[in-house]
Amino acid sequence: MSTKKIEVDDAIKSLLREVSSDNIRSNLITISSYHTRHTKSKYINEVAEWLKNQFKIMGYQNVSFHTYRENIDGDDYDLRNIVCKKYGINSECVIILCAHYDSRVKKLRDSTSRAPGANDNASGVSAILEIARILYKQKLYCNLQFVFFSGEEQGLLGSKHYAKFLKEKNNISKYRLINLDMVGYPQLNPGLVIVERDNNTKLRYNKVRENDADSVKFGNIMRGMSRYAGLQYRLDSIYDSDYEHFEEEGSIVIGAYDGSGQEDLNPHYHDTSDTASLIDWNYLNAVTKMVLGTILKVARLPS
Ligand SMILES: [Zn+2]
Repeated sequence: MSTKKIEVDDAIKSLLREVSSDNIRSNLITISSYHTRHTKSKYINEVAEWLKNQFKIMGYQNVSFHTYRENIDGDDYDLRNIVCKKYGINSECVIILCAHYDSRVKKLRDSTSRAPGANDNASGVSAILEIARILYKQKLYCNLQFVFFSGEEQGLLGSKHYAKFLKEKNNISKYRLINLDMVGYPQLNPGLVIVERDNNTKLRYNKVRENDADSVKFGNIMRGMSRYAGLQYRLDSIYDSDYEHFEEEGSIVIGAYDGSGQEDLNPHYHDTSDTASLIDWNYLNAVTKMVLGTILKVARLPS
């Protein structure tokens, strides 16, 4: 495997320096302060409003809810994904940067207990808000979509509906997608980020083979940026998160993950104790830089 260092030009370097740990922290604290973001809870659509408004405050005009109805535990719920679009000059290139914004405790049906979901997944959401803020004024070659999903914990519901919606309108095999799910608690793997590619050998997690090579290539860019951001990396495969339905539709998907979603090793996983006080701010800052750098490597206008 090549150990060649990724080239990062001055324009990208200066944008990466704009990543603000204070912004990320303040957004993460707000998001994890909602009593719960359980998809059945009365708070979920309130959180959606707050998230949509954050894009508006940054100046984005094209921000909307993608709505869907799902039956969960016997009741129907009207739910929202949040979609913020930024247009580039070539509509053939589209990058989706996504994260789920719902949370849970160990008992999945429990929608009333305190579920701060700071790492799972206010961390991914906060990183994306910071990336969107920095990219607002940038002229890009590719179209970007910043997307937040609900219903992930109930079985990837929001992303299932959004992938289906995109597929009905577009050829989504040209889409590239970066999913962030748990990117702020590296205690099980100190200083290390897991770069997930679409090369799972289990058919269940790899429905389409034609997109595998492009995903590995895309992952190599993220791997290069992880080193630039001061992180160690481990290469792994996509598994159990919102990228799955896009993979199934043929999109080129990768993910970043801190490796802490292991119930037997991490007592805070899907627990009331997944609070902001456990977040490693330097690590989350570095992951945010890695992801921003990955997007810029693909989406920035050639200078
Ligand atoms: Zn998650």
